Amino acid sequence: MFDDKAATYTPMYGNNPYSNFILRQGRFKTTSDALFRYTFVHYTRSIMPYTDVIIAGAGPAGSTAACVLARRGFSVLVVDRAAFPRPKLCGGLVTWKSVRLLEHLYGLRPADLIDAGVVDTVTDGFALHYRSRCLTQGRFAYPFHLLDRSAFDAFLLDQARAAGVAVRNQCSVHSCDPAGTLHTSHGPMRARFILGADGVNSVVRHGCGVDRRRWKKDLAAAIEIAVPWADSPRRTDRPELFAGVLTAGYGWFFPNRNRAVLGICGLPGHTRNFRQAFLDFLGALGVTDPADFVRRHPLHGHPLPYGNALDRPWAGNTLLVGDAAGLADPLLGEGIFYALLSGWYAAEAIAQALRGGPHPGPVYAGRLARFVGPEMRGAGRLRWLLFGLEKCVSPDALGGYFRLRTGALAEMVHGIRSYDLGRKKNWDF
Ligand SMILES: Cc1cc2nc3c(=O)[nH]c(=O)nc-3n(C[C@H](O)[C@H](O)[C@H](O)COP(=O)(O)OP(=O)(O)OC[C@H]3O[C@@H](n4cnc5c(N)ncnc54)[C@H](O)[C@@H]3O)c2cc1C
Repeated sequence: MFDDKAATYTPMYGNNPYSNFILRQGRFKTTSDALFRYTFVHYTRSIMPYTDVIIAGAGPAGSTAACVLARRGFSVLVVDRAAFPRPKLCGGLVTWKSVRLLEHLYGLRPADLIDAGVVDTVTDGFALHYRSRCLTQGRFAYPFHLLDRSAFDAFLLDQARAAGVAVRNQCSVHSCDPAGTLHTSHGPMRARFILGADGVNSVVRHGCGVDRRRWKKDLAAAIEIAVPWADSPRRTDRPELFAGVLTAGYGWFFPNRNRAVLGICGLPGHTRNFRQAFLDFLGALGVTDPADFVRRHPLHGHPLPYGNALDRPWAGNTLLVGDAAGLADPLLGEGIFYALLSGWYAAEAIAQALRGGPHPGPVYAGRLARFVGPEMRGAGRLRWLLFGLEKCVSPDALGGYFRLRTGALAEMVHGIRSYDLGRKKNWDF
């Protein structure tokens, strides 16, 4: 078992904490003791569902971690409160680094994802607006891929199933003991390691003792709707971003094959009335009667990590990944890439530990600090620069800045350059 404070590892005698405890007492000297030990160990193993790793949440973080662990031969159970495919509020935009990572982890190229019905739209165009006014537009060398999130998440879960992962849908996690127990709607479940991949409102994270007030400080609020093109206020074939619609946030208008996806996200401390901000955004898009528009297309809201990545995303034998660990970039809220990446990192750290290596918590946190930390900090600095510029310079000057910096900003968004001073980014995949 792992000792949280010392972060040391004592090899387990079996794969059940109760039988391990009995075995480690060292009090069994006689034949009857040995018989008792044998019976106890086999009894406890037979009545308690037990596995190497249980993963709470089957989003991109959970499914990726599950797939990596199962492919290395470990027993993995994924539980999710939803039945898949399930809806997920998300713009579905992924950048060059995500496409590369998907190829690295799953051997899937964009063409395979298009064939699987997972990528809805590919486009190398972009436009940036200040409310209704276009500041800059053009084409990038690297295309954006727009995912059908519901299909994408179901597809990744199928990849995990094919690798041998057991999946239990419609099973809610109620609480977590980070030593290795999940309390669920289907009873307690124990494992040598738990992964909290249960999204931004993670129940597993609560069990890990993360300070809820601090966590909420940088949590963004987001509103999004998807409308068929026939009802859309405008038509476009490229992702478009909008400054000036929130004090500390932005709006988006993304094209899908059959619909437009539009939304806003920002820090609630800076915008009191999000509904009104969304109505104003619709006005900037050219909707003549925003109130009527939202009556016909009901709004959906969801929080989004926006600068609250955890420094220590683990406790006991439990690691947190994806949104549960606050891993979305604090400039654009891009979280799919970090969900895939952290799921992979956590799985590798756990696989190493299960083979007798060091405690996975510090290994995982160290890899995140090396590759993800600079992006989170750099994107955070850039966002305050851009939000500040938005407040104190004219839209013309803002447009000038973006035109000057378009190439560098695009390379940062796609992960070719780091958000940390625009250096060339060397990922480990
Ligand atoms: C409006 C909006 C737009 C976004 N747009 C983009 C975008 O364009 N590009 C991008 O990269 N990112 C975007 N994001 C962020 C992105 O959606 C997330 O970062 C990403 O989904 C995180 O993946 P995850 O696997 O960590 O969690 P999720 O995808 O949230 O998966 C968590 C899973 O856990 C399950 N779960 C939750 N609680 C429990 C429980 N108690 N018991 C059992 N199961 C549970 C859920 O059912 C879910 O399946 C957007 C987010 C929002 C809100």
